Amino acid sequence: MKYLRNVTMCIAAFAMVISFSGPAFAESVNGSYEENNPDKGGIMKSSDKIESATVYVLLPLPYAQNALEPVISENTISFHYGKHYKGYVDNLNKLVAGTELAGMSLEEIIIATSGKADKTAIFNNASQAWNHAFYWNSLAPEGGGEVPSTLKVKIEASFGSVDACKKELAAAATSQFGSGWAWLVLDGDKLKVVKTGNADSPLTKGMKPLLTIDVWEHAYYLDYQNRRADYVNAVIDKLINWDFAADNLG
Ligand code: MN
Repeated sequence: MKYLRNVTMCIAAFAMVISFSGPAFAESVNGSYEENNPDKGGIMKSSDKIESATVYVLLPLPYAQNALEPVISENTISFHYGKHYKGYVDNLNKLVAGTELAGMSLEEIIIATSGKADKTAIFNNASQAWNHAFYWNSLAPEGGGEVPSTLKVKIEASFGSVDACKKELAAAATSQFGSGWAWLVLDGDKLKVVKTGNADSPLTKGMKPLLTIDVWEHAYYLDYQNRRADYVNAVIDKLINWDFAADNLG
């Protein structure tokens, strides 16, 4: 899973469909990322025998669909990953096909379309594809717990303590009005907690995301109904992947 512990890997969610590969890489939606991406770089660079356009594929969950229970149920992950996340990726493929954006990384598409009224649908689906890949990796079955020392030093410098950071993250996640995301980000030399609405991303503000919590209702409603704060607090206590956040500092 080391390849997923790097923020740059999370944006490289696309592969070429090449003619000699048997089943198209598009089918890696249901297959093994490692098998279909032998260089583990996410981008299949094949200069020959390219048969059709670039497609974006789902990054695999870094754990089983039931691995986050009892905090997040298999039922929730099944819908969230298999329907919502897949929907964003599928929509993105349809929207960029044949345009100048096809073949760009998700990050490049997000930057290129942010704030452009005629590109809203593309931005929303690209950003949601990126945000969800990042969210899957911001959680871990044995998450919560100790913060790695490299990150802990920076958290203490910016927030005073790990507890203060967690409180600010929880407050951002619970107070985001409507759908959106809460983030721990690196902004210059300082760590900050920020929240974004709908599909918006700190990437468009030049910040470096370290971890995120999805607060769209589809992330928690099957398990918690309207009790967003219970979902947020349980995620921060038991699932948040501080190792992933620390790796993203580098
Ligand atoms: Mn979501």
